[in-house]
Amino acid sequence: MKLNFDNQFAALGEKFYAAIPARPLPNPRMVATNPNGAALLDLDPDDLQSKDALQFFSGAKMIDGADPLAMVYAGHQFGGYSPRLGDGRGLLLGQVRNQKNELWDIHLKGAGPSPFCRGADGRAVLRSSIREYLASEALHHLGIPTSRALCLIHSDEPVQRERLETAAGVIRLSETHVRFGSFEYFSYTNQHDELQALCDYTRRIHYPEVVDVDHMLQEIAGRTAEMIAAWQAFGFAHGVMNTDNMSILGQTFDYGPYGFMEAFDPHYICNHSDDGGRYAFDQQPNVGLWNCLALAHALKPLLADESSIEQMREHYQIRFFKRYNRLMADKLGLQTIAEGDELLVHDLFDLMAENQVDYTLFFRQLSDRTDQPLPVLKDNAPQFTAWFAAYDARLAQDSQTPEARRSAMRAINPKYILRNYLAQTAIEKAEQGDYSEIARLHSLLQFPFDDQIEWDHYASEPPDWGRHLDISCSS
Ligand code: AMP
Ligand code: MG
Ligand code: MG
Repeated sequence: MKLNFDNQFAALGEKFYAAIPARPLPNPRMVATNPNGAALLDLDPDDLQSKDALQFFSGAKMIDGADPLAMVYAGHQFGGYSPRLGDGRGLLLGQVRNQKNELWDIHLKGAGPSPFCRGADGRAVLRSSIREYLASEALHHLGIPTSRALCLIHSDEPVQRERLETAAGVIRLSETHVRFGSFEYFSYTNQHDELQALCDYTRRIHYPEVVDVDHMLQEIAGRTAEMIAAWQAFGFAHGVMNTDNMSILGQTFDYGPYGFMEAFDPHYICNHSDDGGRYAFDQQPNVGLWNCLALAHALKPLLADESSIEQMREHYQIRFFKRYNRLMADKLGLQTIAEGDELLVHDLFDLMAENQVDYTLFFRQLSDRTDQPLPVLKDNAPQFTAWFAAYDARLAQDSQTPEARRSAMRAINPKYILRNYLAQTAIEKAEQGDYSEIARLHSLLQFPFDDQIEWDHYASEPPDWGRHLDISCSS
């Protein structure tokens, strides 16, 4: 296996990281590989099955050009500032420049304790590793900006969480592992030369088009807003929107107790540890802005003009609503955006919440609507009669043919999402040594908008046991 390393972050110097080797995952076993991830690194999918790959990705043996390091960062966690976090269990193994001239970080999550582990074991369990592996690919195929997954490795090392589990590692690919919290760390430790160097790095590698730091801040906020608009439109809740989990590229990053909303509930809290609902579904757009403001404050020493912070706030709102309104119009099959559309969405959400309608199935069935009530509404269909009358009146203002509308709606309203109960089934099987369900889900979720008749039951609402699975921060 040969990779074209170009370790730009390592060149920043040791103030930015701790250069340490991994603690190898014992008795590693490659249990899932992603050919699409391999392609990003110019690898052949078969390369991931090689002994080299297993050794390298499990941390046992570095290959030529790799340069493992644990990045330092800080972050606001649930509103409180933690001055020093850093990769406690992850390592940037190196950065690869592919033939398209893209630079991809190869990050092993679960690489053993680092100087930033704060007494924790440095491991990740199989359960949370499967969840990250599947979700990052699922979001990508929905069209939501995200980190990617290359492969998943299972070890027999016991790891204590609420129960005894086993260790695993995910190889995550991302164009960056720089987070909002990376800037916060250098700002609040008064290392302003390093803050400047990190800005220069970020601009050079990721934002070559921006003219100054103020402009970069606007762009980061804009991309963050658009990412969150997509989360809202697809019913995705991240769960731990701490500033150390916010990528400076506006990509979904660090998958923990995330969840796709099933029965519509604006106050949906996917993270069992989030008692106050700080990161509830309907809070996400505001939290995104809050996080961007935290980033802005960290960047203050480098801003040309403090009014940039207010401009950023406006910019965030504009980019959020522009993307969100377009996505919701697409989901409803509306070509244009007209006055009253917001109210139409608002009224629909009220009804969906009252009647606990499955969010994904509603829009999918709306795409394929006939003259019969949508099956997902069950006995509650009569309560939607007035809404459908308003909707039909609105559709009549659009010039699109029903056929064109149907195919456009089917391309934005997924049939298959990573429901918690589906992930849970894959996890329970894998814990028994059967990894086949991971591959099954991975392949299903690569084509979330296609009818995959043989796998129709994967589109179903959760069974009773799968409705209220407690997913906590434990990972
Ligand atoms: P997260 O909630 O996954 O974003 O993690 C927050 C911080 O805790 C990061 O600095 C992680 O590296 C660190 N961390 C989480 N779990 C562990 C662990 N088992 N061992 C070491 N560090 C950890
Ligand atoms: Mg994190
Ligand atoms: Mg995490």
